Amino acid sequence: MEYISTRGIAPKVSAATAIKEGIAPDGGLYVPESLPTLTLGDITVMTDMSYNERAVRILSRFLTDFTEDEIESCVNLAYTREKFDSANVAPLYELNDKAYLCELWHGPTCAFKDMALQLLPHLLTTSIRKTGEDKTVLILVATSGDTGKAALEGFKDVNGTKIMVFYPSEGVSHIQKLQMMTQAGGNVNVCGIEGNFDDAQTGVKTIFGDAEFAKKAAEKGVVLSSANSINWGRLVPQIVYYISSYCDLVKYNKIALGELVNFVVPTGNFGNILAAYYAYKMGLPVNKLICASNINNVLTEFFDTGRYNKKRTFHATMSPSMDILISSNLERLLFDISGDSADVREFMKKLSTDGEYTIPQELSEKISGLFCADYCDEQETAAAIADIYENYSYVCDTHTAVACGVYKKYAEKTGDATKTVIASTASPYKFPHSVLTALNCENVAELGDFEALDTLAGKAMSDIPTALSKLKNADVRFDAVCKKQDMAQQVMAFIEK
Ligand SMILES: *Cc1c(COP(=O)(O)O)cnc(C)c1O
Repeated sequence: MEYISTRGIAPKVSAATAIKEGIAPDGGLYVPESLPTLTLGDITVMTDMSYNERAVRILSRFLTDFTEDEIESCVNLAYTREKFDSANVAPLYELNDKAYLCELWHGPTCAFKDMALQLLPHLLTTSIRKTGEDKTVLILVATSGDTGKAALEGFKDVNGTKIMVFYPSEGVSHIQKLQMMTQAGGNVNVCGIEGNFDDAQTGVKTIFGDAEFAKKAAEKGVVLSSANSINWGRLVPQIVYYISSYCDLVKYNKIALGELVNFVVPTGNFGNILAAYYAYKMGLPVNKLICASNINNVLTEFFDTGRYNKKRTFHATMSPSMDILISSNLERLLFDISGDSADVREFMKKLSTDGEYTIPQELSEKISGLFCADYCDEQETAAAIADIYENYSYVCDTHTAVACGVYKKYAEKTGDATKTVIASTASPYKFPHSVLTALNCENVAELGDFEALDTLAGKAMSDIPTALSKLKNADVRFDAVCKKQDMAQQVMAFIEK
């Protein structure tokens, strides 16, 4: 299977090249030329398989230039019992006879980014070998918190790679900062910058665009690459858990084979829900894909009206990983429904020049039966956390709460009783202060990070994930902070080390 660019100008490439390049040379995103099909027979076969076996099955349909052995080896390096504290990798939690949470946060950083970022490094090193590249790959990441840590955990001590992460020194939570400053691994580096996330992102993009820098790095045996969510190697692992959760519902007799289900996805960059869309296009029996946003509800407006308008106030919310106004992966959906890369180029051009675009009605109509969208404001998000706790004695995180709140509104409005899987994207222990506040605990602001974790453990009656509790006594390895104009120099020093 070959991969083409959503902007239609770059040549077709193999999966390995698409993963190695990350973004197409015409600025577009790589997508498979056609999608593999999934039959009910395929689902039946996978029902008795482990998560890893299902992953191998599904990934081999997309990565046709990889051997089955290569895929199996990547999958088994990624989803291990040392790294995931659940044998099911992405287990379902039954809230009631209609709604299930698919817990995607059992990996080493307690957020769903691990599902893709544990696998990507192995897909990338295999791709590099397959394309004849012999240099060390240096992954550069600018992070607002979660992605950086997940990428560090994914790439740490992976042969043939190095990783360097920049974060806004004063712009991430204390726990997130500790997670990065104490990072283990012989091939990692972390540096704070004096500036905000946009400064970090701009700095990294400048280094990627600097031909002189690339030449100098190549002389030292290093090529640069990126681990952000436009890379196909980050998207394809996410298709697996939608299919896997359907297999589990069949396996445990919660649905009949072929029965339609809904998926609700708390959305930011549109990567996670796009993977659900691809699973649907392959043949997974889906009724509705419900796109849940926080108050940064640019996607709610898009699905309601066909207009994408990023010219709005940015709100910092208690679900920070969804505080996004440019959902990059929407480009792949637009390409899929339009089938015309000239349209996509036009929309993206309008987005960058006018800050908005509107898709024609016939395109809106193509997806209006499948997608619906809504959002929760901060108060509704907190209410959803309290509601789930009162009704089910289950503590969910702030991002998952947005999805639960949107699902509740949807079910009340439509009366739809279709079985529904809600993507649960982070452990509540990642956001202890917000969760405790939503649960009406007193004096939350006065609690230190580890006190807050202990208090939450009492409420949730579950164990604090060891990845977070061990931070308390972990040694700080990386406390450097640099000026934004010195980022390239820091990267070069790391290359030369
Ligand atoms: C990244 C993230 C999201 C948003 O996922 P997208 O693929 O960007 O839409 C939601 N929840 C959490 C916890 C995340 O880290």
